[in-house]
Amino acid sequence: MDGKPGVAALFAPDVLSGRTALITGGGSGIGYGIAECLAAAGASVGVFSRNEERVTQAAERLASTHGVRTLPTVGDVREPAALERAVRETRDALGSVDILVNNAAGNFYAPTADLSPNGWRAVVEIDLFGTFHACRAVYPVMVEQGYGRIVSISMTLYYRGWPLMAHATAAKAGVDALTRTLAIEWARDGINVNSVAPGPIPTEGVKKAFEAPPSEEVDMFGARSGAGFAERFIPAGRLGHPHDIGQMITFLCSPGGDWITGAVLVVDGGESLVSPRTVPPGRSES
Ligand code: NAP
Repeated sequence: MDGKPGVAALFAPDVLSGRTALITGGGSGIGYGIAECLAAAGASVGVFSRNEERVTQAAERLASTHGVRTLPTVGDVREPAALERAVRETRDALGSVDILVNNAAGNFYAPTADLSPNGWRAVVEIDLFGTFHACRAVYPVMVEQGYGRIVSISMTLYYRGWPLMAHATAAKAGVDALTRTLAIEWARDGINVNSVAPGPIPTEGVKKAFEAPPSEEVDMFGARSGAGFAERFIPAGRLGHPHDIGQMITFLCSPGGDWITGAVLVVDGGESLVSPRTVPPGRSES
């Protein structure tokens, strides 16, 4: 991966000690990078996803590397009861749930005309409904504590549209709308709600998008030209790393983030300001 910002250098190692975070999709990719940054700042960390082996190994690795308490919980964000159980188990085992990171997501390329109702539903249910279910599950605990930090991972690609990703772009637009609304509704409960919108980060889940375009017509990441995406389209000159996102979230959850709520924070090396990113399907760039 390009760029390795490192985990803890920016923050005191105890800035989040006494806090517990629950991270959906925390066993891999950006979610794991966020978990590493929060653990390096002293937080206890719960990681939740469908694959038991993945979250168990992630929890063990985080505990042994950072010396914090961790807990794997297993379930699907599409099921409200699974998130209620995860919140309960995390609070029972780790003492509280102070931080929720809505990171789990899934998507696939599909021309919208060929997208089945089930395909649409699957992505919107994971990305948007899953975020709602997790916020709803954690709310009573955060109210009781009089303290909460919720950060949802959205994306920049819906700002201008992303062909073949109607489900994901619509869902992430909904996530940012939910962030703004909950920020207002829950502010007097002591709960801050923000979104972080990452630029391109070549995780296992999306790295194939950096290797080859999905079709001759749609050059999603500049792969067809043979030129590196980062050199062509990112002012900062490098792709992102999960720690770029994790460090922003650590800041939001630190005392420095106390007066930040309802924000959608773009962390993308300037990519969304300049990148043409896509051309419409079926047309050439010239
Ligand atoms: P990833 O590598 O595909 O990881 C997704 C994670 O979500 C996995 O740990 C997966 O674990 C979990 N997950 C998926 N469906 C789930 C479900 N139904 N219930 C519970 N957990 C589920 O993705 P990533 O690249 O790290 O992306 C993380 C977040 O950043 C996503 O919200 C994504 O939209 C956003 N993002 C990424 C990029 C990028 O360039 N990578 C750019 C913008 C935004 P299991 O399979 O075990 O469930």
